[in-house]
Amino acid sequence: MKTLFQKIADREIPSKMVYEDEICFAIEDINPQAPTHILVIPKRVISRLSAAMDSDAGTLGHLLTVAGKIAAERGLSGGFRTVINSGPDAGETVPHLHVHLIGGRKLAWPPG
Ligand code: 5GP
Repeated sequence: MKTLFQKIADREIPSKMVYEDEICFAIEDINPQAPTHILVIPKRVISRLSAAMDSDAGTLGHLLTVAGKIAAERGLSGGFRTVINSGPDAGETVPHLHVHLIGGRKLAWPPG
């Protein structure tokens, strides 16, 4: 069965796609928590960080470099945050690993 994000990648569910390559894609979050809130998602499903294997290292690194490039393109020179929620205690709701790229406003620390 496909994950929600696989259905989005396959255009079965509409989204605002802002980036795509052979490894990953990026979409505007449907419920943005800041002026910029983008999800960077691998096309091959990794459910969460605790399920990632050594062979996923290149993909995980790629997600971060893509997030950094999108942040630069968006002019987030004042800063931005990347977040991966892993598991229920962290607020994970979609079991297909994704990097939240959040910016465009002052972000509090520590997060809730
Ligand atoms: P998580 O809670 O798993 O870290 O993040 C899941 C994110 O996916 C949430 O920020 C949520 O708003 C977003 N999301 C859930 N369903 C959809 C959808 O159908 N389209 C888009 N673009 N984002 C979604």
